[in-house]
Amino acid sequence: MKAMVLKKISSVEEKSLELVDLPDPIPSPGQIRVRISTCGVCHTELDEIEGRVSPSRFPMILGHEIVGEVESLGPEVTKFKEGDRVGIAWINWACGECSFCLRGEENLCDKAKWTGKDVEGGYAQYTVVSEEFAYPIPEGFTNLQAAPLLCAGVIGYRALRLTGMEDGRVLGLYGFGASAHIVIQIAKYKYPKGKIFVFTRPNQKEHQDLARKLGADWVGVTKDTAPEKLDCAIDFTPVGAPVREALRNLEKGGRVVINAIRKITPIPELDYAEHLWYEKEVKSVANVTRRDAQEFLPLAAEIPIVPEIREFKLEEANEALILLKEGKIRGAGVLRMPE
Ligand SMILES: [Zn+2]
Ligand SMILES: [Zn+2]
Repeated sequence: MKAMVLKKISSVEEKSLELVDLPDPIPSPGQIRVRISTCGVCHTELDEIEGRVSPSRFPMILGHEIVGEVESLGPEVTKFKEGDRVGIAWINWACGECSFCLRGEENLCDKAKWTGKDVEGGYAQYTVVSEEFAYPIPEGFTNLQAAPLLCAGVIGYRALRLTGMEDGRVLGLYGFGASAHIVIQIAKYKYPKGKIFVFTRPNQKEHQDLARKLGADWVGVTKDTAPEKLDCAIDFTPVGAPVREALRNLEKGGRVVINAIRKITPIPELDYAEHLWYEKEVKSVANVTRRDAQEFLPLAAEIPIVPEIREFKLEEANEALILLKEGKIRGAGVLRMPE
């Protein structure tokens, strides 16, 4: 099979993913082999390539927003049959026995394995996965549209839940890329009387236009003062400064949720009185659970979410990642595999 592999840590601009031929993976007991159609491009790949979240071994096939067709079954598979359309997300395996797993927080499991980091991911024509960690893809989405639902969508859904948002309240979104453009669609559906304020980098006119098209009540840039205090906010950006800006704009008792695995720059020093007092909270989002995916995918079909896609070929993965780093992809970037 063809795959784009990462052999060492480097900067994304060095175009370090290499197109190689590898043997097709063979499914173990309980695993399915998936012929991959599409794989979304996520900020986490930038963190992996540049070493902020290193893959556990090299070479590694990155990518954890996988959509494809079940092509063959390992022994003892019962949930899927050949030809089923499935998705694979960031969580690839969890122990099921630790205190986190037992209370439904497998996203925090110390032994968990992550797709495209500890296990070969989706920048390839085939992959294998435990049938317990694959999800049916609802009808109504093309393979291109479904890909960003698997991470941008699922983790955005988790982040929105963690904000404690309620109808009639004000939600702030800092950064308007793949995840935020899905979250705004969930929020408009679940909280029709709420208000959504979107903050982007100053040069992101296309992102701002997309936010307005998707129903944002106000659009500005990161350093702006919001027209009303934010009851809650999600920070989707890869840098530190927006966290402090969100806290500055936050209403008393509000919460800022940080949807990022790593930050490229530090969070600036906070002033306790201005940014934290009055019971303001900061909470991060770490990974996803299977339940997040199982709840979100049917909801995405019910809304229905319409992802904005920019398509790339598998061998264009390096170019897609550079554009992502520069904040130049409107909506979500998705790789299409060769036939
Ligand atoms: Zn991701
Ligand atoms: Zn565990």
